[in-house]
Amino acid sequence: MQSIIPDYLTEVLEAVHPDTSGELAAYIPELAAADPDRLGAAFAMVDGEVYGSGDIDTEFTIQSISKPFVYALALADRGFDPVIAKVGVEPSGEAFNEISLESDTGRPRNPMINAGAITVHSLAGAEGLNATERVERVVDGLSAFAGRRLRTDEAVYASEMRHAHRNLAIAHMLRSHDILVEDARAVVDGYTRQCSVLVSTRDLAMMAATLANRGTNPLSGEQVVPEPVVRQVLSVMFSCGMYDAAGDWGTQVGIPAKSGVAGGLIGALPGQIGIATFSPRLDSHGNSVRGVSLFERFSSDMGLHVMEVPATARAALRTNHVLGSGPDALRVLQLQGGIGFAGAERVIREAVNTSYPETRVALDLTRVHSIDDVARRMLLEIARRLTLDGHEVHLVDPESIMPDPDPGDGGRVTVVDSLDEASGSRTPPTPAARRRSGSASPARPA
Ligand code: GLU
Repeated sequence: MQSIIPDYLTEVLEAVHPDTSGELAAYIPELAAADPDRLGAAFAMVDGEVYGSGDIDTEFTIQSISKPFVYALALADRGFDPVIAKVGVEPSGEAFNEISLESDTGRPRNPMINAGAITVHSLAGAEGLNATERVERVVDGLSAFAGRRLRTDEAVYASEMRHAHRNLAIAHMLRSHDILVEDARAVVDGYTRQCSVLVSTRDLAMMAATLANRGTNPLSGEQVVPEPVVRQVLSVMFSCGMYDAAGDWGTQVGIPAKSGVAGGLIGALPGQIGIATFSPRLDSHGNSVRGVSLFERFSSDMGLHVMEVPATARAALRTNHVLGSGPDALRVLQLQGGIGFAGAERVIREAVNTSYPETRVALDLTRVHSIDDVARRMLLEIARRLTLDGHEVHLVDPESIMPDPDPGDGGRVTVVDSLDEASGSRTPPTPAARRRSGSASPARPA
């Protein structure tokens, strides 16, 4: 049986195909010569599965889509403070190549406009690299995001460099404010090489999936940049990634994104998917016309808006019931799904607001598929408090969702594999359960 996703992608590509509005980027002669009819879209899941339709293996230059990735490299290589001291994180509301800086500090407003990206290029790699070594660091880093060796397009680089007057003007202005501390032309040269790195739509989807996957490339398994860097980069992409159309994009599509003037467009949805599209004709903001339409469809068809409210919190507590009676009665709080802060809060509220005459309480995790660190700590703390209140606490955890549970000072939990085991008579737990127990005592007095 064939997966439904390539069919879906083909269907949406056909729907946007007739739209030939927009113009090729004319300010770089090589880009103006591109085939305007190319069209492709790819999804890369965070486990490395790729789906695609159309021209997903055609190479084109990455252009501004390099900006978030090189920002990530600079943050990883130099640390947050030196980078933030030189480049802000506020949306500018201006065109990508506007010659403007923050009036008080002289900093570029964000790393997604050219002034910011030129500065960020100068911060990639360790301090003291020369211009060539820095370009190598940048191409190596972009390659690590893609999971394969990338190269630059010398013709596009040379073509852009011949007409780079505006970027040179920006760089000289940055140099005059000491935001750039090196030769302005050399930095623009390196930045232009960065923009001329060749990628396919498939590569871009994988690069976006690396961001969606907390900085680890799903195919190579390489942790390209640390997690806090990814959070910073995705946040800036969300507020500043779509040139001066970032507000419309944030409300309508709601996926952290970045576009480039060669027609590429990426989106990264944390924990789920990296998306890339390619169609060279651009709207007046410089964003790919059919790329924007495709993303609007993806977002609404698949509910991908990051502000889409998840149902998990309310559903975290499946039941609160009692098994058996008399002294052996067992109070069962049955949890389900993925448990985060709000889910754990719901369970805790239930535990706090209900007075339990039963001595024995079970937190049943049989239907829980994941639990994050804060929820784990909250549930262990409530287990500890239940112990201190005189309850015997069982953790029903056949899949070891909470390995080595340790409720801390005065708390004890008995780990069992099933509710039957917990609700049965007060028999000692199985040896396996005993090993996983948070209690030191074999018979598990909790
Ligand atoms: N190389 C291009 C420039 O700096 C990138 C622009 C873009 O893709 O937005 O003008």
